[in-house]
Amino acid sequence: MSFSLKNKSAILFDMDGVLYDSMPNHSKAWSQAMEKFGMHMSPHDVYMNEGATGHDTVVRISLRDRGYEATQSEIDDIYGYKASLFRSMPEARVMPGALDVFRKAAAAGLKILIVTGSGQKNLIERVQRDFEGYITRDRMVTAFEVTRGKPYPDPYLKGLSIAGVPASEAVVVENAPLGIRAAVAAGIDTIAVNTGPLEDEILLAEKPALLLHSMQELADNLEKLFA
Ligand code: CA
Repeated sequence: MSFSLKNKSAILFDMDGVLYDSMPNHSKAWSQAMEKFGMHMSPHDVYMNEGATGHDTVVRISLRDRGYEATQSEIDDIYGYKASLFRSMPEARVMPGALDVFRKAAAAGLKILIVTGSGQKNLIERVQRDFEGYITRDRMVTAFEVTRGKPYPDPYLKGLSIAGVPASEAVVVENAPLGIRAAVAAGIDTIAVNTGPLEDEILLAEKPALLLHSMQELADNLEKLFA
């Protein structure tokens, strides 16, 4: 591994698919919600749109499947329904290895932030309990903090500003193509962890600095990356 974390002072984590094994639930919820409104979202579609806000996802799929833009009230209905389906599902487990990564990053003196496109209030609350001691609400950028979500760099630029570090001193951990694109667009070295069903090539096309396949693999390699 030629990529190094030696000069980094902040680490910015995406949430779904990185800190929580929540993408299978999101995939089912999106698929059911879209069917109800006459559209179709395959698991591949869900993973390709992962990281975008609910608003942007509905707009994109509506244009593709119906040829017209969804109205704001339709967007609210569809995303609201999707969110309620997601909330009714069994809690996603914390991603194996994620707490280990937090512990080692904190021990190395890195500032820890979460940068997510999520507007799921229950998960935003829960992450502060599951990662207590490492994360507080003021160290989180969510769908409530930015207007333009991933793949725009805005969420990650906001994260840098909260951390008070330049892009060159930060590293991002992301699992989704649009998330990697957002982080790279913000000028931040990005570690891709491919925790879903997409082929590595799809993630590598977004130019991460490094590609791994699980948070446990990242945890196991962190000391090496700091050397
Ligand atoms: Ca993600």
